[in-house]
Amino acid sequence: MTDLSAALRRVLDGRWAAVREEIRTEFGPEQFAPPPPGTSMEEYRDRVAKQVQLIADSGHPARGFPVSMGGNGDLGGSVTAFEMLGHADLSAMVKAGVHWGLFGGAVANLGTERHHAAYIPRIIDGSLPGCFAMTETGHGSDVQSLGTTATYDRATDELVVHTPSAGARKDYIGNAARDGRMAAVFAQLVTDGTSHGVHCVLVPIRREDGSPLPGVTIGDCGAKEGLAGVDNGRLTFDHVRVPRTNLLNRYGDIAEDGTYSSPIENPTRRFFTMLGTLVRGRISVAGAAGAATRTALTLAVTYAGHRRQFAPPGGSDEVLLLDYRVHQRKLLPALAKTYALQLAQNELVSLMHDVQGAEGDADEHAQRELEARAAGIKAVATDHATVTIQTCREACGGAGYMAVNRLPMLKADTDVFTTFEGDNTVLLQLVAKGLLTDYAGAFGDLDTLGMVRFGARQFAGAVIERTAARLLVRRLVDAAPGRDSEKGPLDRGWQLELFEDREEHLLETLAMRLRKASGPDADPFAVFNDAQDHVVQTARAHVDRLVLEAFVAGVAACEDIAARKVLGQVCDLYALSTIEAERGWYLEHGRITPARSKQVTAAVNGLCAALRPHAQELVDAFGIPESWLGTELLEPPA
Ligand SMILES: Cc1cc2nc3c(=O)[nH]c(=O)nc-3n(C[C@H](O)[C@H](O)[C@H](O)COP(=O)(O)OP(=O)(O)OC[C@H]3O[C@@H](n4cnc5c(N)ncnc54)[C@H](O)[C@@H]3O)c2cc1C
Repeated sequence: MTDLSAALRRVLDGRWAAVREEIRTEFGPEQFAPPPPGTSMEEYRDRVAKQVQLIADSGHPARGFPVSMGGNGDLGGSVTAFEMLGHADLSAMVKAGVHWGLFGGAVANLGTERHHAAYIPRIIDGSLPGCFAMTETGHGSDVQSLGTTATYDRATDELVVHTPSAGARKDYIGNAARDGRMAAVFAQLVTDGTSHGVHCVLVPIRREDGSPLPGVTIGDCGAKEGLAGVDNGRLTFDHVRVPRTNLLNRYGDIAEDGTYSSPIENPTRRFFTMLGTLVRGRISVAGAAGAATRTALTLAVTYAGHRRQFAPPGGSDEVLLLDYRVHQRKLLPALAKTYALQLAQNELVSLMHDVQGAEGDADEHAQRELEARAAGIKAVATDHATVTIQTCREACGGAGYMAVNRLPMLKADTDVFTTFEGDNTVLLQLVAKGLLTDYAGAFGDLDTLGMVRFGARQFAGAVIERTAARLLVRRLVDAAPGRDSEKGPLDRGWQLELFEDREEHLLETLAMRLRKASGPDADPFAVFNDAQDHVVQTARAHVDRLVLEAFVAGVAACEDIAARKVLGQVCDLYALSTIEAERGWYLEHGRITPARSKQVTAAVNGLCAALRPHAQELVDAFGIPESWLGTELLEPPA
């Protein structure tokens, strides 16, 4: 590794660098490298189940639980460790995420002491494999409309968990088809004929010998596009009885006399508060998407550094792929965005650690900010993974299509990241709704927005527009020369101003459009629906700005002078390739002139040329153990 790679790695590894290093060295290739091509689904499931037990034995999962529950309370370290596993085998990462992150997270965050004492030690050591059973065949994004019921029976002091219709069957549930013993089941809680909305109940689903418990029907989702090592299944409950105390009762409880109570009176607020505590799964998916993208780029950039096609007329040496401008254009802006997203992800994990890490209830405002950021970064990072991994596959030609070279599996495994842990389109609407709430708070008169309902998995309240780089950003923007100034597109203040301006304009005009919803004859849903493309664009512009600001902070924090210079160029490439992609908008809105638009394109080309000599060092800085990459693409021809 060169000095430059090492210095860049220090920046990328961030606050939990030590955890990243532990995973790189401790999780050996024999156990954690992706499976050989041709591994059957059953063999693969078996292999992944063993990997999960190895992870349990490593002691890492204790990080994800508070000290009071027998963990280490290092939430940031836990999410970072899962992210690193995403470089190895995504099935192992997802199965581990389902058990410790989702099932364990539900018990830890929605349960109380009695559940913590009874289950968390067995969750940490892997002896109680669990499922997170939220989605149903009929409802995925709209979780408030779930059909499963949990009805209190006063006579026996039990909850009766039931699937009343085919649409209420739990579907796609990780760990359900083969290994899960208990499920955290989300159901409408009913006492004395009154529904209190969706709550979570622990339901044992299998005996020790693996057979289903009475009243529980377990199905297997079978073959999927990817993640073949994860046993996704279906659960149906026929009046299954569990003790009242199996209700995870932090936000809603049933007393011994059968009365329901909750510290949060409003059922919608209660529901979204409950979901908000589970934000870690979403953050982990964003992290895994980043890991997979970095793996794909490492393969494609390394291959392009030794693969040759066509000699120039009269020349004898064929040209390296990476010396072709269009090939640089394929890979280097994607690499720049990958750097940007990793720095934004590091900030997000840090925020999560600080907000949720403290024992006791998190500060509500900070929690809302965390939820909105997690939603936005998850949506953008997983979209980026899907697009970039496909680009990398194409950049490796036919070799990229061979299973031995990992790219087909990376594509297949990450495809669903845009859907699970919140569909991206739905998540971006939540981000925008948070921005609008914030805007309404600042400018008043958008009350009717409260009436606009749309399929939402999670409430995103006021979004605080604070990032680590806020002061630095203000200084750069204030010092930015005027529009289309002499300094050219490489002026960081100008870049930041353009990102900020786009977000503000989109938000203001969106708010103006939605004001119509308050008219006497207006149908708020129709008004919102008509503006949905604008809503999603606003959210993207917001996330783009957050990500650029995280990058600017990362450059400022880099202590190595040579690395800071290169990192600054990578940051320019991220900023300018984003502006180039959105130049239609900037031109339409008079934000840049046609002449400046051409300068931006020229600058992107110039940055690709400037970074070409560092391309290998830039991917080496990701620090992916070669044994996990181990494909023919890495080997130069003999
Ligand atoms: C491999 C895999 C593993 C999974 N693991 C689990 C698990 O362990 N536990 C669990 O509970 N769930 C799990 N899920 C379910 C997953 O969380 C859901 O698939 C996801 O929430 C989306 O729900 P849906 O499939 O019903 O899609 P839908 O919500 O029906 O969405 C379908 C399409 O409609 C669009 N759409 C929906 N609402 C709107 C709207 N308001 N405005 C505009 N467009 C909209 C979406 O953008 C999407 O394109 C898993 C799914 C898969 C595929």
